[in-house]
Amino acid sequence: MQSSELGMRLVLLGTAGGAATYPMAGAQRGVARQGIASALVIDGRVHLVDAGQGVARQLTFADIGAGGPTQALSRLHSIYLTHLHSDHTMDLVNLLHCGYVQGWPERAPVEVYGPGPGPRRAVPGPLATGPRVVGPTEPTPGTTAFVRRLIEAFAADFHDRVFAAHRRDPFILVNTHDVALPAAVGRGRGASLTVDPWVVSEDDAVRVTATLVEHGAMFPCLAYRFDTAHGSVVFSGDTVPSENLVVLSRGADVLVHEVIDARYAEWQFGPGPYDAAQQRAVATVMSKHTSTDEVGSVAQAAGVGTLVLTHLVPASVPTSRWKAAVRGFDGPVVVGEDLMELDVAQVRSTTQAGRRWRSEQPEQALMELLGRVPVGQPEVGAEAPEH
Ligand SMILES: [Zn+2]
Repeated sequence: MQSSELGMRLVLLGTAGGAATYPMAGAQRGVARQGIASALVIDGRVHLVDAGQGVARQLTFADIGAGGPTQALSRLHSIYLTHLHSDHTMDLVNLLHCGYVQGWPERAPVEVYGPGPGPRRAVPGPLATGPRVVGPTEPTPGTTAFVRRLIEAFAADFHDRVFAAHRRDPFILVNTHDVALPAAVGRGRGASLTVDPWVVSEDDAVRVTATLVEHGAMFPCLAYRFDTAHGSVVFSGDTVPSENLVVLSRGADVLVHEVIDARYAEWQFGPGPYDAAQQRAVATVMSKHTSTDEVGSVAQAAGVGTLVLTHLVPASVPTSRWKAAVRGFDGPVVVGEDLMELDVAQVRSTTQAGRRWRSEQPEQALMELLGRVPVGQPEVGAEAPEH
């Protein structure tokens, strides 16, 4: 490793929430936002958080490896999935195939961390009537089964490469890890989800801790914190305002948080009034995310240095609107853009004083905010399109 590679950069590869092809928001960039994915480049190694639409292509555009796209993929060390919604995972398979052809087979497997299998509570039993269960023998797979099934779905391709072209076994591409939840986390309805952060992985360069966040019927959902010699970065994953996340984020240099526009209904359906189906759809999606009215208070209570907004829903909302809508945080707010980069050590040095001040403040605002969050796992109801 060259000394010039020491440091930590946050690269926002894609900043859109939702498995959707959003229209272009403003003409200046020429393309719409790509799906949610972020990279932390720590001492030259790339760690991804989520793998949404376009992640493999965005890695080739990002200034991660001096040697171009092959170099970027060969530097990929690990992938952390926050949860298994499609908008966070849909281009993982693309990454697997590009990596197989371009770089990964020659080096150590990429470590993939993500949620373990969910409880069946969101899926009817085998004798139930109604919509068909997808994959009834394994209807709520965890990360390990998810990746295995992605590889198996491409058996025709891999068999051609392995048996005709004598390439390597695709299963050696990755080591998958179902992140185990602490014993304190209950799994039944109404069980407590309050938990202290726990260590997921650790090496010489970075310690990764996780906590559980709340995101409707999707369970488990994880947030991750990366602590290094160069600073600390937290990724919220998809969540409502979360006390667990505040604890995980305490004093972090950068909090990368999801957000939904508080005026989501207007962007989605135009000016009101709204019919019952529209109201239900809006209420469902708002109940699973953190709004522009709320996200600043989370960052304030956590005492973080800088708040970076990503997983923007809807992603077609102009940047100026996001900037103007966030309140309650007296530190810098950065509206994420695709391929935006932040040097974390630099951010850390410019926000240290503010972070110390915030971490000494009472948390009344957040407690009031959390008053609206139900304790325990939510009931399963009619679902709006997932994000
Ligand atoms: Zn989600």
